[in-house]
Amino acid sequence: MKQPSDLPRLSIASLGGTVSMQARDRGGAVRPELGCDQQLANVPQLREMAQLELATLGLLPSASLGFVALLEVLAWARAEVERGAQGVILTQGTDSLEETAYFLDLLWPFDTPLVMTGAMRAASQPGSDGAANLLAAAQVALAPCSRGRGVLVLMNDQVHSADRVRKTASLAMAAFESPGCGPLGEVQEGAVVYRQPPVRREVLPLPQRTEHRVALLEACLDADVALLQAVRSLGYEGLVIAGFGAGHVSAGWAEVLDDLAPAMPVIVASRTGCGPTARATYGFAGAEIDLQAKGVHMAGLLCPRKCRMLLWLLIASGRQQQLPHWLPH
Ligand code: ASP
Repeated sequence: MKQPSDLPRLSIASLGGTVSMQARDRGGAVRPELGCDQQLANVPQLREMAQLELATLGLLPSASLGFVALLEVLAWARAEVERGAQGVILTQGTDSLEETAYFLDLLWPFDTPLVMTGAMRAASQPGSDGAANLLAAAQVALAPCSRGRGVLVLMNDQVHSADRVRKTASLAMAAFESPGCGPLGEVQEGAVVYRQPPVRREVLPLPQRTEHRVALLEACLDADVALLQAVRSLGYEGLVIAGFGAGHVSAGWAEVLDDLAPAMPVIVASRTGCGPTARATYGFAGAEIDLQAKGVHMAGLLCPRKCRMLLWLLIASGRQQQLPHWLPH
């Protein structure tokens, strides 16, 4: 039997979310109450797998996390790796997991895995998945084959890449997918099996500023132009539009973009949830050829919410001119 000092070091921090929630009375509403050590109470195996470093960094529902808070979480995770952690796990709410994972992935400079997980059912609910997800996240974080893959999302025994993962169901246990490409891998009987090889990663420098804002608007039928026209005067420094289909907006919105696109970076993504934006197919006003001629950037495969993270981080380090390089098609 391995002595504790022979075991790898695994650092785990919790931020809140359903995985930290419980009800005070049977059938009552669940709220974030469980710190990191309490979340681990139903996963005793973890202490036989690794020397654990635990931290409760928050007890927030994940919709209330913010960029500055995430930068503090990143600083904690970086310090853990510098102190010798062979894997890092963050538990948080699933509602914003697809965004936080991508944000941290763009800034994660190590080969050491940073694995993010959560739960769809609170600790006090029957069939709660928090303990199983935590155990599988530890198996992923400690697996040598997870190295060099950046930030990974483990949910329901599937491993997803930070740039593709999406929450696609509000309440189902199988709530996470990587549309169009599938998960990177799976955890089977405690072993991690990857179906896709690691890809070359690039990371951004830490932000030099954090007060700037990037707007996200969704194109929808018969939408007026009032919000779009207000974006600049409200002080936003960038705009992402979740466009129709392959990245399209109405003729009315396209007209407003004549003035907006030269003034700030504008990205048009697809609101469909799967597949890239087009680059050279449609020629009508508001379609991708027209939009690109105005200086609008097409998102490629990146979903609107992740585009906003990317643009915010690029502006944060004065690199917005590198935007086309970061939009994969
Ligand atoms: N429903 C959410 C969750 O799964 C709540 C949150 O994101 O904090 O954790």
